[in-house]
Amino acid sequence: MERRVRVRFAPSPTGPLHIGGVRTALYNYLFARKHGGDFIIRVEDTDQTRFVPGAEEYIIESLKWLGINAVEGIGFGDGPHAPYRQSERKPMYKQYVMQLIDAGKAYYAFDTAEELENMRERLMANNIDAKYDAQTRESMTNSITLPEDEVKRRLANGDTYVVRFKLPSNEEVQLHDEIRGWVSVNTHELDDKVLFKSDGMPTYHLANVVDDYLMQISHVIRGEEWLPSAPLHVLLYRAFGWEAMMPKFAHLPLLLKPEGNGKLSKRDGDRLGFPVFPINWIDPKTQEIYSGYREAGYLPEAVVNLLAFLGWNPGTNQELFTMDELVQAFSLERVSKSGAKFDPNKAKWFNQQYIRHLANENLLPFMQEAIKLKGLDQTFSEEFLLMACGLIKEKISFTNEIWNYCSYFFITPNTYDDSVVKKRWNDKIPNLLKDLNEALASLPEFKSTAIEGAYNEALAKNEILGKDFLQLFRVILTGVAGGPMLFEIAEMIGYPETKLRIENALIKLNN
Ligand code: GLU
Repeated sequence: MERRVRVRFAPSPTGPLHIGGVRTALYNYLFARKHGGDFIIRVEDTDQTRFVPGAEEYIIESLKWLGINAVEGIGFGDGPHAPYRQSERKPMYKQYVMQLIDAGKAYYAFDTAEELENMRERLMANNIDAKYDAQTRESMTNSITLPEDEVKRRLANGDTYVVRFKLPSNEEVQLHDEIRGWVSVNTHELDDKVLFKSDGMPTYHLANVVDDYLMQISHVIRGEEWLPSAPLHVLLYRAFGWEAMMPKFAHLPLLLKPEGNGKLSKRDGDRLGFPVFPINWIDPKTQEIYSGYREAGYLPEAVVNLLAFLGWNPGTNQELFTMDELVQAFSLERVSKSGAKFDPNKAKWFNQQYIRHLANENLLPFMQEAIKLKGLDQTFSEEFLLMACGLIKEKISFTNEIWNYCSYFFITPNTYDDSVVKKRWNDKIPNLLKDLNEALASLPEFKSTAIEGAYNEALAKNEILGKDFLQLFRVILTGVAGGPMLFEIAEMIGYPETKLRIENALIKLNN
């Protein structure tokens, strides 16, 4: 019988979630929905020294903003496997570590930091890879080398210890990765990893495997950086006798810098002018701000779409996908093995496409926000704002560009693009503007086609060609050289404002 698909996103709250992590969450989410399974969120906070306040809330807020919703787990309501925060699961792990110790598959190690350092130095001096493994464990202070009653005495005495996994020596571990195929590692390349500490806290490896087992995880889909840990995880499943329940593994390719050389890092974004975080993050220690997609004016749907394409493709030419379409199209077979280069221009393109296809009503909240920031929200009707949305959505790439692109809908310009004025203003212009104002005044209805008619009439009367005046007229009405259809702008701002702007130009530019 096929297992029910259950996948998890298991972030550690050690800082803001990089978009590589968001992509991992997204692929898990798509995979779960595609297979009618469950997507859960588990917080892996066993390493308390790396805990960063606010990081967990940040992660959940980011996922919610993007619509990557879980059915169980932190931030999305508990399910049958609560708690979903490993620090709160602490009492559960001890029995599993004891099971391994009793079976001789793990052991207590009492080595001090100094002893470990000495071992490293000794081995490195002999050009031997310094690690705690099948050879070195024989000469260290642990329950393999110490007499049993000494081990008991130390434990009863409350001595500090760790529990290490006893790696089988010289064994070839084979694991099948859904993206990479068969991966094989010999245990002599690995070390006896710490599974548990005397403060009762498990380490990542133990907690991760125990929880995946208890939470009935069917597929582990995570970043490539965890591939080296996978053989150990396979050995842990074997040691527990849980092989039948072992999840399938899929390690996702790295996200690379735009230049392609190396992993996309948290510094790259601000260095190259694009965000590498989903939402803004303020470092609680330094107060440094790392910019996020949300605040940079991206729509969540565009971010989901662009992230989906970083390491996956549908095998067709289609590039724009809603979340539901991604669910339909997604498969691990189409995830690539090689790193995915981040392309900031492509990211911008995705956002432009989404803004362009947005219904005016859906752009409205951003428009309202933009004019609210300028204290103008009481002045304009919803109908007016919707028209403005319709006129600018072809022009902007980011929602936070709204004000810069269309301030002239709301306020009379008081500066003018100089280069256009210098090039196009001449002695004939004042008369033309006067005639134009007269022609506009006599229009029965102030509509774009009628305005264009009056404009052409005034041009003909003054023997001026449209191509010599249109751009100047745009600057007169808006202050800037580019923008949406000019006669529609005039219609929107209405006759009195159009008249005022023409009169302003006559005063301010006629010298
Ligand atoms: N806690 C790990 C992380 O922060 C999870 C790795 C995994 O998914 O197994 O990425």
